[in-house]
Amino acid sequence: MRVGQAENLKLLYFFQMEKKANKVSKLALGPGSLYAALPIPAYKALSAAGEHAANRVLTALVSHLGKGSNLAFPSMETIAKETGMNKTTVNNALKVLYSYGFVEKYKTKAGKHWRNNYLILPSAYQRSKFSSLAAKNEKRLGICKSCGYAVRRSDVGVWGEGEGYAHFGCGGLISEFKKRRPKI
Ligand SMILES: [Zn+2]
Repeated sequence: MRVGQAENLKLLYFFQMEKKANKVSKLALGPGSLYAALPIPAYKALSAAGEHAANRVLTALVSHLGKGSNLAFPSMETIAKETGMNKTTVNNALKVLYSYGFVEKYKTKAGKHWRNNYLILPSAYQRSKFSSLAAKNEKRLGICKSCGYAVRRSDVGVWGEGEGYAHFGCGGLISEFKKRRPKI
């Protein structure tokens, strides 16, 4: 097979995969479906820090969010059951989530009992709102050409139409460590 032919086959394959992906991404949720917005920036920061128990607890909390709400109130037993971890581990994981500023807990009276309410904070969804602890664990994205600072994703904004990043601190452009180029 000639090199050109192989390239064409590869292109055809990518084209077909893309068509398939487009089809799948257009699937609408039917009646009875439930969904919640996943706090992906928080997941990534926790994974990078090796806080896997905290990630599991965060997933459990998110799956109990009310419709259009950032509030969940599963019991300690429920969280332990859904994460497959004991209550001590769950408690420690919750402390990690509080210290990263991703979740806040407060208590309300429910009949005779007190109920734990977990509020998923906006910083769990937005890197620009990360606490310094959460930002610390982010990977360095590149070097600011203007001030020389090794920037993280939370230090920069996209400039132009996605041509690159600019440093919030000084406005300098970022030289990225790894340029992603499509592999074809
Ligand atoms: Zn700079």
